[in-house]
Amino acid sequence: MTSTGVYISVPFCRAKCSYCNFASDAFGPARMDAYVDRLCQEIAAAPERAERMGVANKWHVDSIYFGGGTPSLLSEAHFKRIFDAFKRTFSLQNDAEFTLECAPGQLSDETLAELQRHGLNRVSLGVQSFIDQESRAVGRFHTREVCLEEIARLRSAGIEEINVDLIAGLPHQTLESFQESLQVAVGTGVPHTSVYMLEVDEESRLGKELIAGGVRYHAHHVPDDGLVADMYLQACEFFGQNGIPQYEISNLARPGHESRHNLKYWKRLPYLGLGLDAHSMLGNWRFQNTDNLTEYLEGKPGPEPEEVSADEAFEERIFLGLRLNEGIELAVLGGHTSHPVIKALEELSKDGLIRIADGRAALTAKGRLLSNDVFTELLTATA
Ligand code: SF4
Repeated sequence: MTSTGVYISVPFCRAKCSYCNFASDAFGPARMDAYVDRLCQEIAAAPERAERMGVANKWHVDSIYFGGGTPSLLSEAHFKRIFDAFKRTFSLQNDAEFTLECAPGQLSDETLAELQRHGLNRVSLGVQSFIDQESRAVGRFHTREVCLEEIARLRSAGIEEINVDLIAGLPHQTLESFQESLQVAVGTGVPHTSVYMLEVDEESRLGKELIAGGVRYHAHHVPDDGLVADMYLQACEFFGQNGIPQYEISNLARPGHESRHNLKYWKRLPYLGLGLDAHSMLGNWRFQNTDNLTEYLEGKPGPEPEEVSADEAFEERIFLGLRLNEGIELAVLGGHTSHPVIKALEELSKDGLIRIADGRAALTAKGRLLSNDVFTELLTATA
């Protein structure tokens, strides 16, 4: 029996962070109500949709991930409705991993209690920085104190699986201030952390200001790419030294505390995405919902589902598997030894970006830092 992960997107935030280019925005309660209604309809229609694609699935769910946006903003009543619909459609395994993305200070006691009633056992906190000036500069509302209180409160409610998101490259950040954030994160004892290098999208407010060479949104205090790369390496090294080794390009965890849900993406295991702009992979099919909120609320479908060919599946296995520190087993690519990607991997190993040893290929530390370049090289080889 294959188990499935379910991702549920909740595209609402109290305010938009200056660097954000996600499909999220600040909307009022009426929009949230309408969204939950639509989500419940989508949940109820999910089996029929999968059946139309010929995907046999018993809907045994072993991971749920509420992401966004800031799903912790939904009320107790919203989650109650979502889980009424969910339990009519899916069977949730007892040991399922159940994650909620949460902005520190934006999760009510009532919502937390309701979610725990349904099995919530993991929270991912969008901290980004423990330095208040840096959080404020990008429009976040929390302070270090709020983050630490949130972690303590989750623990006293019985939630130990806590992830802290950090960003390298925020305005005003320096190697010293970043080190302070890393030390605070380790000091909390959380078992998982995600470290992202700030990629400023041209469409975000900060991105537009950077292009214009202006000073709004603290654009003139954004560290340069070299410094951001140093911060990323600093984080990987520091967390590794403190028993939290890296297992994926942006993710580090104490052994046994890796995100089971996110591992599905990198290992090409089935998952169903529900909500705005959510992506799914079931059987040989990949499909996604529209990223237009009005269209989503009207029930309009996203792009046509795409059937993944054997060649595409092979390439995905390489691209996704390489994100993991353990890399890919070359034997599972058997029969493809003359594939141009294999040749490209060998070339990249000469540049110190890929390590090929013991029948596996994996990114080196330098390769993880330059992973976009590595993937571009591999994509060129498959074109
Ligand atoms: S909280 Fe996350 S999703 Fe919301 S605006 Fe900020 S970065 Fe974007």
